[in-house]
Amino acid sequence: MTVAEAERDGAPGDFVRAIVGGDIAAGRTRDVVTRFPPEPNGYLHIGHAKSIVLNFGVAGEFGGRCHLRFDDTNPVKEETAFIDSIQADVRWLGYDWGEHLHFASDHFDRLYEWAEHLVREGKAYVDDSSADEIRAMRGTLTEPGTESPCRDRPAAESLDLLRRMRAGEFEEGARVLRARIDMTSGNINLRDPVLYRILRASHPRTGETWRIYPTYDFAHGQSDAIEGVTHSLCTLEFADHRPLYDWLIDNLPVPARPRQYEFARLNLAHTVLSKRRLIRLVEGGHVAGWDDPRMPTLAGLRRRGVPPAAIRDFARRIGVARADNLVDPALFDHCIRDALNDTAERRLAVLRPLKVVIENWPEGRIEMLPARNNPNDPDAGSREIPFGREIWVERDDFMEDPPRKFHRLAPGREVRLRYAYFVTCTGVEKDETGEPVLLRCTYDPATRGGDAPDGRKVRGTVHWVSAAHAVPAEVRLYDHLFSVPEPGADDDFLDDLNPDSLVVLDDCMLEPSLADPADAPVQFERQGYFRPDPDSRAGRPVFNRVVALRDSWAKIQAKGG
Ligand code: ATP
Ligand code: MG
Repeated sequence: MTVAEAERDGAPGDFVRAIVGGDIAAGRTRDVVTRFPPEPNGYLHIGHAKSIVLNFGVAGEFGGRCHLRFDDTNPVKEETAFIDSIQADVRWLGYDWGEHLHFASDHFDRLYEWAEHLVREGKAYVDDSSADEIRAMRGTLTEPGTESPCRDRPAAESLDLLRRMRAGEFEEGARVLRARIDMTSGNINLRDPVLYRILRASHPRTGETWRIYPTYDFAHGQSDAIEGVTHSLCTLEFADHRPLYDWLIDNLPVPARPRQYEFARLNLAHTVLSKRRLIRLVEGGHVAGWDDPRMPTLAGLRRRGVPPAAIRDFARRIGVARADNLVDPALFDHCIRDALNDTAERRLAVLRPLKVVIENWPEGRIEMLPARNNPNDPDAGSREIPFGREIWVERDDFMEDPPRKFHRLAPGREVRLRYAYFVTCTGVEKDETGEPVLLRCTYDPATRGGDAPDGRKVRGTVHWVSAAHAVPAEVRLYDHLFSVPEPGADDDFLDDLNPDSLVVLDDCMLEPSLADPADAPVQFERQGYFRPDPDSRAGRPVFNRVVALRDSWAKIQAKGG
């Protein structure tokens, strides 16, 4: 791989890649195997994308493979619908796990055998204590835990109870299987952690076969070992679980020795990424669903029109480190613009229309004017847009009494109409509140295409749509869901919702080529990137703003901020 390819495909030099590269160089690892391990209890979000891009990226760069493994150990919260949506989302992001689709539940038989193994070795026991009692015995960060009265029960008795737990003889919560490690350990995860609990729920894949289910800690490392995962990459909150991960691997007859490494989660300002909070947004009706374009879910980003390449690019640019930080969403917007700039065709659309009459243009005359589809891509060609006596322009492109730096329409001022002519504003009609409702202009016939033969310059160019041909449309403008960078930092996060996160404009005017738009993002010139929403109906398109054109990130960079 060349340096340029490495720059593009990965973040060479991050600590994960340094570890994997070192393991290969030293002969400790031959084939790199990673995994992305979602719990099927919700939709994937952009934080998960960081993990997906890392796991699939590392495997790809080192010639290895990445598994998709569902961590389906809690049937109470998990659903088949999530299993399907997660697979669709990972594919949409651009990754393929080949034949390596796995489920922790595929390994339930083996995990159970290993539970019996630990019991026989005196390294696990069945505890009859209740969940509350176990919690009370666990101790605190400063006080050691207390040993359960069941801790020294003979292995044969624990084995018998474990088998009866499995057979469904006991009520939920009546007993658990615990590892027998060290109740005085400074690491609370080593104070005889629970390995199996009774759950009387039907499992999406194993149905009623199992009455006991392994905990995350018991299932995860052992599933890694069974699948031959070499580098088990997870987020920092599992760092304290690593000694337990290693203890289980050391004390079980596992076929391989995976290692866990932790990296910092993605935290994105003005956003929440915990499933618990995302569920509250959906169930509380604060958004229109999991795929609301304001949601940080992959389903929401897809609906908004964010291309998967932008998400991959973003994940690479934020990099992988061990220190927690808060990422500015302006960086994500920048990646979206970067991905769309070269591919999105340009169109003219007026979002807040103001009527203009060109008084010296003959009634009924229509001219077709050529317009380039994409200045960055000559192959994208051009199209013709109709121009006539009445056009729509953007209300914000007119000021009756403008400051000096305003280079758009104002009484007596000349501007260029994109792809068309120079026009001069000669008059304005207002309603009783003083709002302009109609502009009168004259055009200069010598300026067709937007240049004056006498070399005369105008400072401003505005976009427009022919009134006789305009396609009325709804356009939805999105802003951050939360008005503060860290929602919920000092109150309930719902109190920080941004009341203006969605603005619906329902009398927009689009150029006629957008009457039946292709399902691809386009750039509305001077405004931003927009993608048709599935709510569109024949003759009434609905567009989502993917991202506005103004690149605040580039500005921040330029200022050296
Ligand atoms: P949540 O906190 O949203 O409930 P989770 O960690 O419980 O997320 P899982 O389905 O268990 O969700 O996550 C699958 C993988 O994605 C895990 O390896 C987890 O560490 C990783 N992951 C989850 N959230 C983030 C994030 N914000 N940044 C990076 N990785 C994440
Ligand atoms: Mg989790």
